[in-house]
Amino acid sequence: MTYAGVVVDIPTRALDGAFDYSIPEALASECLVGSTVLVSFSHRMAVGYVIRVSDEAPEGVDPSRVLSVERVLAPPAFDETSCELARWMSTEYAAPLPSCLRLMLAPGQSVRVRREGEDGPWQLVCEKAGPVDDRWVSLSPAAADFHPRANARRQAELIETLSAGPVRMAELSAIAPGMSSVVSALSKRGVVLVEHRRRVRGAQTTSLSSASAPRPASLTEGQRAALAEVDRAMEAAAGDVVLVDGVTGSGKTEVYLDAIEHARAAGRGAIVLVPEISLTAQTVGRFRSRFGDDVAVLHSRLSAGERFDQWDMVRQGQAHVVVGARSALFAPLSDVGLIVVDEEHEGSYKQDKAPRYHARDVAARLARLHGCALVLGSATPSLESLARCDAGTWSGATWTRCEMRERPGGATLPTVRVVDMTAQFKGGNGSVFSAPLRASLERVVRDREKAVLMLNRRGFANFLMCRDCGCVPECPHCSTALTYHERTHSLVCHSCGLSWPIKAYPDPSTRCPSCGSRYLAQYGVGTQRVEDELAMMLSDDVEVIRMDADTTKGKGSHQALLERFDAADCAVLVGTQMIAKGLDFPEVTLVGVINADTTLKLPDFRAAERTYDLLEQVAGRAGRGERPGEVIVQTYWATHPAIAAVADGDRGEFLASELADREEACYPPFSRLANVVFQGRSLSAVKSCAEEMASLVRDATDGTDGWKVVGPAECVKARVSDRFRHHLLVKAPLTAELGPLLSSCASRLGARAGVTVSLDVDAYDLM
Ligand code: ADP
Ligand code: ZN
Ligand code: ZN
Repeated sequence: MTYAGVVVDIPTRALDGAFDYSIPEALASECLVGSTVLVSFSHRMAVGYVIRVSDEAPEGVDPSRVLSVERVLAPPAFDETSCELARWMSTEYAAPLPSCLRLMLAPGQSVRVRREGEDGPWQLVCEKAGPVDDRWVSLSPAAADFHPRANARRQAELIETLSAGPVRMAELSAIAPGMSSVVSALSKRGVVLVEHRRRVRGAQTTSLSSASAPRPASLTEGQRAALAEVDRAMEAAAGDVVLVDGVTGSGKTEVYLDAIEHARAAGRGAIVLVPEISLTAQTVGRFRSRFGDDVAVLHSRLSAGERFDQWDMVRQGQAHVVVGARSALFAPLSDVGLIVVDEEHEGSYKQDKAPRYHARDVAARLARLHGCALVLGSATPSLESLARCDAGTWSGATWTRCEMRERPGGATLPTVRVVDMTAQFKGGNGSVFSAPLRASLERVVRDREKAVLMLNRRGFANFLMCRDCGCVPECPHCSTALTYHERTHSLVCHSCGLSWPIKAYPDPSTRCPSCGSRYLAQYGVGTQRVEDELAMMLSDDVEVIRMDADTTKGKGSHQALLERFDAADCAVLVGTQMIAKGLDFPEVTLVGVINADTTLKLPDFRAAERTYDLLEQVAGRAGRGERPGEVIVQTYWATHPAIAAVADGDRGEFLASELADREEACYPPFSRLANVVFQGRSLSAVKSCAEEMASLVRDATDGTDGWKVVGPAECVKARVSDRFRHHLLVKAPLTAELGPLLSSCASRLGARAGVTVSLDVDAYDLM
């Protein structure tokens, strides 16, 4: 008799252990680690995931009383290493084990059990995204001797069509309705063959010229050094990390491609993570052009069927290079030799729903488990990764930083010019375009080149800003910007909860607290307005392309817009943050940032880092070809270290001031930070739950060095779909077991109907 350890997936309960079931003889060959099974659990049917199989009866249990596995619902989706990873994630991120295992299932294949009413029968509810077959029709060798009779016109037509090669049945029927009966008649006579072929969905291509990766004649010195370091890490087989810290356009992708080739030459596979937003046809094309069909692509813009096919190619061992967003980490690749996390500083690597894992940190863990190398790449590495490299080691692995400061082929980094918008405003220019940006746009049009304009759109409406001096009031205790609450006419700090009443704008007596100006305004313009102003300013022969959430809703629309930009002779691309990443168009000679500072004012300790990253990234879109590039950054806050550092091309300047601030306020990378969010329809229940949790955490950590509980306070998004939101920040030492402490406190919270508590360990979203 064999036994299975099964993690039961019951959504309402966090059942963290595995339960033992016996495996009936008939199921022994299918019931393996990674299988989805149906079991009986406390008098109901439940779906579960097998995490171990053993020949020995579970200890201390009467074997005759062990229940047996009822059915196997899906073949193995993960192996022992993935199980171990899921366990680690569950502890580290204070998330239920079943929800971590669910990440590893085949896309669109999840199964649930449900019953109608109180005592109806249990029913299985499956998503249906399994494999799809196509029927292909081709001529058989016997067709050579077959001559349709003169009046059998459709037979002749079919044979002629097929003489050019096999055609899909669906296509045949589309060209000539009714063809299927002709096909079946001729297949009975052995003239044509009909075969089922597995269709692989999700392998689109693009016409973008830059979507290929021709092998350069030689590598730059920086690339060679980085590659040697990656080879060493692969050899060490200890989960060592190499941070490729290379300016935009320094050829990081080429380092990844070569490193993957080395892994493949050793017979091992590779996982490449790219932020969802830059997982464009252009990026994918570069990997496909080097590795062809050995590449599987996984991201959320694919349909469930497409994702399943790509995932299944990996499981079948047909693809060994997985390129994808966060979830690609859980692809069923058996022998992982290399993991790459591109743009490792990106906040989107943090999943915003449970399990709230950080893909970079999970990748580091997975690299340890596989004994493979982890490559992190960025032009603006996160302060966390820089700190780990400075320390040289983190969590048992070696962290090494490789710098690439130059672009290959002598391409120069663009010149950056900061324009102070308060001066523009005082000089009588109230337009969204400063005089220098206007002049440069005119130059681009005259020389028939291309420009990219970025509009920083996150969180602008909630701040009051003085248009004369750019001042935005800050909390004296938290040094985060205060948000403006229109209803109560107050300024509120969302870290500590303090608030200050202000006179209502547009009351003419309202004055800037810093310079006394009356021009206080909620600051912000939309992409549409920029597009309209551009259209008025530029002549008709310049194409203006707008790329934002609205224009990229449809499937493939993002790519279509980029293809239009690529094909245009002279064009301006106007967009939100989504244009900052990964675009490589050599004809772009001007990048303009309409409003650099809106992200600086976000009530979040990473606001300056994010702004700096974004500006560096978008500036990197200019001058990637032979012609030099120019960057114009419009701002109300030219003296801020994040902006000054971009202007001077000196990251050290920014890091020094930022690290000093972080250390003083005890924020990452000097501590770990968790955000605990309480939500519910009853404000009093939410508040009391938050208070209770705060005191539980304070009691549990009282007097322990490095722990600090801030709040509770109202969240920036204080109310979402009629639910009140409060939160608590917990700061802990770097080596602290933050997840386990929080889950143990949360499990001791008194029950409050309708209040949900979410634990976000190593939080990125503090709103
Ligand atoms: P990054 O990812 O660092 O921003 P890319 O990998 O996009 O940079 O490289 C920028 C450009 O330089 C690409 O067009 C790439 O083909 C080219 N490139 C990369 N390495 C070399 C090299 N060794 N020699 C010449 N061109 C190169
Ligand atoms: Zn405060
Ligand atoms: Zn002012």
